[in-house]
Amino acid sequence: MTTGNLGWWLSALIVVCGCSTQTNIVAEDVRLNEISCVGVKTHTSTNAPTEFPVRVILNTNVLSEQDVEIFVESAERINSAMGQTIVTPVTNETGDDSAPNTVVMFTTAIHSGKAIGLTTHHTEGHSFVQVETSSTVGALMPQSFYTHEMVLEVATHEMLHALGLEHEADQGSLMASEADPSHHAISAETVCGLAQLVLTK
Ligand SMILES: [Zn+2]
Repeated sequence: MTTGNLGWWLSALIVVCGCSTQTNIVAEDVRLNEISCVGVKTHTSTNAPTEFPVRVILNTNVLSEQDVEIFVESAERINSAMGQTIVTPVTNETGDDSAPNTVVMFTTAIHSGKAIGLTTHHTEGHSFVQVETSSTVGALMPQSFYTHEMVLEVATHEMLHALGLEHEADQGSLMASEADPSHHAISAETVCGLAQLVLTK
């Protein structure tokens, strides 16, 4: 695979959850890590959790140690961006997965279009997040594609879907619909959307 081909493959790798979306303008002067949210347009899912922090279940019986580490890092990245605990990683051996406001992390080879991550919403803020990693390589990409940075990016992106955020138009945002860990940062729109979801609970 040439570098040029890789550039193409990096596009459109993350799919939308297909949820209904609401658009809000944040009116409150929320300030998180020096970001003012006044007037920021956010796109949030109507399937957002009903309570924060949300538990992120990491079943150590089915996840590799490396994947658990990356998923914990994803949660820490979100908490750090928000300056507060939004998600609480919970490791267990039972896959406790039925409680409200719980995200269950899976690693799996996804056979859905070009997706390398997929979030499925259920009721009461309960979601499944599927992520392809080096231990569950899909049909499209070689194992070398699933670097730490790539898996971290996809896991964080999908975790944010599970928390109620939708895709953003800004291609530099982590919540852009296409994966590119070398350019993507957690944007003001992401921070403000999440702040709004947390504040309105
Ligand atoms: Zn997505």
